[in-house]
Amino acid sequence: MNYISTRSNTETLSASQAIIKGLSDDGGLYVPSKFPDLREELKNLSTLTYCELAFFILKNFLTDFTDEELSNCINSAYKNNFDTSEITPIKQIGNDYILELFHGPTLAFKDIALTLMPHLLKTSINKNNLDKEILVLTATSGDTGKAALEGFKDIDNVKIIVFFPENGVSPIQKLQMKTQEGKNVFVAGINGNFDDAQSAVKKIFSNDDFNKILNKNGFILSSANSINIGRLLPQVVYYFYSYFKLVNTKKIKLFDKVNFVVPTGNFGDILAGYYAKEMGLPVNKLICASNENNVLYDFFRTGEYNKNKELKLTTSPSMDILVSSNLERLLFESCNRDSRLISALFKSFSETGYYKISNLMRQNLNDFCGYYCTDEEVSETINHVFNKYNYLIDTHTSVAYCSLNKFKSNNSNKYKNIILSTASPFKFAKDVLNSINNNNNNLQDFDVIDKLSILGKIDVPKPIADLRDKKIIHDNIYDKNELKLAIQNFLEI
Ligand SMILES: *Cc1c(COP(=O)(O)O)cnc(C)c1O
Repeated sequence: MNYISTRSNTETLSASQAIIKGLSDDGGLYVPSKFPDLREELKNLSTLTYCELAFFILKNFLTDFTDEELSNCINSAYKNNFDTSEITPIKQIGNDYILELFHGPTLAFKDIALTLMPHLLKTSINKNNLDKEILVLTATSGDTGKAALEGFKDIDNVKIIVFFPENGVSPIQKLQMKTQEGKNVFVAGINGNFDDAQSAVKKIFSNDDFNKILNKNGFILSSANSINIGRLLPQVVYYFYSYFKLVNTKKIKLFDKVNFVVPTGNFGDILAGYYAKEMGLPVNKLICASNENNVLYDFFRTGEYNKNKELKLTTSPSMDILVSSNLERLLFESCNRDSRLISALFKSFSETGYYKISNLMRQNLNDFCGYYCTDEEVSETINHVFNKYNYLIDTHTSVAYCSLNKFKSNNSNKYKNIILSTASPFKFAKDVLNSINNNNNNLQDFDVIDKLSILGKIDVPKPIADLRDKKIIHDNIYDKNELKLAIQNFLEI
């Protein structure tokens, strides 16, 4: 298995090289040279544990890792960091299923990839005999940053810098990052929203002079964002795992199709579902659920992508994104891997913020459909699910749940639905609490947490309970044109 760029066909890399490099020099994203076909294997996989399944699936992609290397990585990621050995348990709510992806150290789905990716990266560095230190540089809408910090902290030969939008993350997310421990970590707020932070970081990546300075000082830049193939592939596993859960509990028969409903921002999570489908998982629809930043909803409806809109701050901040980077990987497949076409499309996108795809490409996107929900609908849905099923969902999961309802009212659907639940309700406690109860305006952050715990009759998850006594370690705020300075100060170069 090799990795190629979506924007040219001159380069082929091994998995470990693609993981180190992150993004191709031509600006494209790395994709596997083909999809492994697991159709014949499905019946043998259904009884595997999460770790065994992860090993089997990733072995097909990371072909330059030895069995021992890969199983060490998987064990380091999943043996102690999650509060359940199932890693991603599934709950039945009415006739639908909720796949809980928030049982890791930072209570969001990004933990599933970001507990594993640092080990994949470290192994990749060793395999390629690199004598440089990796500098992981990440802009976050809240959850990636904390998950990356936890994953990369105190890993040898790696330093990690996270910039978050000062005005674009929840109080708990902010506190999680500002209290981050570890001797190789640096965290700072950026004046502005997520797109400001993200474009400032992208500028650093494409600044040749600055990269030369970094190299001279022994560093190479890498990213923990979901553009890195090492982040994407671990997410394929839970699509299979949840499917087999339904098979094993006799909710479906092997080879029955299911729908997956995915709260979407950067299009990384749902793309992993598409990869699973391409590998032979029986999927009917991948339902792409957006908040009011509904560029993807428009895209699936019209074939036109337009980022020239005002970014809205919603109650699902991890999805407050106008440029869904991973969509490029899907477009690459939809035009039968025509890298010239993709290159031209994104060249014009970088100039105009707009593109339109051909009808032929649109026909190849039939696996997907898009819906979106307003903050008000999100709140009503949290309330409805809580009162009807005594189950608390977070704001992002609610976007998905509400989108599924819209899908159901538009389609006669004979398939089971699996909703990906991407965060613990405690991470977005205030908005969740306000959805089920009034009069919380004067409560402090931890009073909100406590009240949610009492009303929801669930314990406060340990990573949040522990936050109470943590000291603020990082209290810097930078302007978006000061990133270079911040990086140089931290690295002492
Ligand atoms: C990141 C995130 C999402 C969106 O996932 P993408 O892979 O960016 O589409 C949804 N929900 C939560 C809680 C997240 O942290």
